[in-house]
Order: sequence, then C-alpha cells, then structure tokens
Amino acid sequence: MKYIIVDLEATCWEKKSPTDVNEIIEIGAVCVDEHKNIQSEFCAFIKPTLNPKLSEFCKSLTTITQENVDAAETFDVTLQKFKNWVNTQDEYILCSWGFYDKQQFESDCRLHQLNTDWLKHHISLKHQYAVIKNIKRPIGMMGALKMENMVAEGTHHRGIDDARNICRLFLTYFDNWKV
Ligand code: AMP
Ligand code: MG
Repeated sequence: MKYIIVDLEATCWEKKSPTDVNEIIEIGAVCVDEHKNIQSEFCAFIKPTLNPKLSEFCKSLTTITQENVDAAETFDVTLQKFKNWVNTQDEYILCSWGFYDKQQFESDCRLHQLNTDWLKHHISLKHQYAVIKNIKRPIGMMGALKMENMVAEGTHHRGIDDARNICRLFLTYFDNWKV
C-alpha cells in the first residue's frame, strides 16, 4: 500500500461568472510508503483548455505564471504521466485536504472524457483530522499546521508546497488515518 498525498491548483477568478469553469493548472503530490518513508514527488503544471489565460487573481493567489502554463501540456497528457508515476496497478490511496481535489479531478476527467475509476480510493485528511483532534468542524491546512505548531513551508497555494505541508500532517498522524 502506498499513500499519494495530492494537492491541485486550478484556474479561478475573483468573481466567477457562470461560464467560468475551473480547470487544473498544477498537480503536486508526494508518495509515502507503508513504512512512513517519502518515496518520491510529482509536480507538473497543466495548460488549461477552456480558459488558457490565467486571471490576475489566479496568478496572484497561486504564484503560477502564464509562462508556466503556456509551456505545459494539457490535462489528458499530464494525467497519464501522473497515473504512471502513481503506478495505478499497485495498491494506493489518494489523500487530500478535503474533497475539493477529488472533485476537481472528476471535473477535468469529465471535460476530457477520461475514466474516473482510479479516483475511487480516496480519503479526506481534513475531515479525519477534525475527528482525530475532536474539533467541531474541519479546518484548513494552514489552521491545522498552526494547531501542530508547524510553520508552513514553501508557498501556500502552490500544489507541490501544499502537498508537502499536508504530507507533514499526514506523517504526524500516520497511524490514525482510516483508509
Ligand atoms: P488550495 O489548495 O487551497 O491552494 O486551493 C486550490 C484551488 O482552489 C486554487 O488553485 C483556486 O483555484 C481555488 N481557491 C483557493 N482559494 C481560493 C480563493 N480564496 N478564491 C478563489 N479560489 C480559490
Ligand atoms: Mg493548494
């Protein structure tokens, strides 16, 4: 069994209009084995298909540049690389902070007419963390880091940095997650 801690960034707008569709622009992920060892990392930008031009809001939130996504491949190509990296033949569980990342993957798979079966083994660390800590409502990753007296590393809202920070929380409670 291996654990894929994943965090996505997507196109976004300060005021989203009904025609604006969020598309993944970065996949950041860390692979942890059953012995708590970090095996490898995956990080890739993705060129959005429907709205290739990032909003100022999105660039400022994520620090992802227009050049980053212009130089990247589209979702279908990058997802195949991601799945190859995961090695979906092996037993794996996708872990993210909340259900957003799973839903965003589903949305992009639908858009590109790709299969979503590979998403079925997924847990929300955010919701389980609230249970473990006996707090009333799920809290954000930054709040959880604070609760653990951990300093956020890297740039918040960059997929790979968020994934690394979530991974630190994941490792702290390694024996408590219900998969
Ligand atoms: P995160 O993992 O928290 O960096 O968020 C993932 C994605 O959710 C971002 O790339 C944005 O598309 C969207 N998002 C996060 N925070 C906001 C926000 N304050 N306003 C609009 N969209 C957001
Ligand atoms: Mg993020």
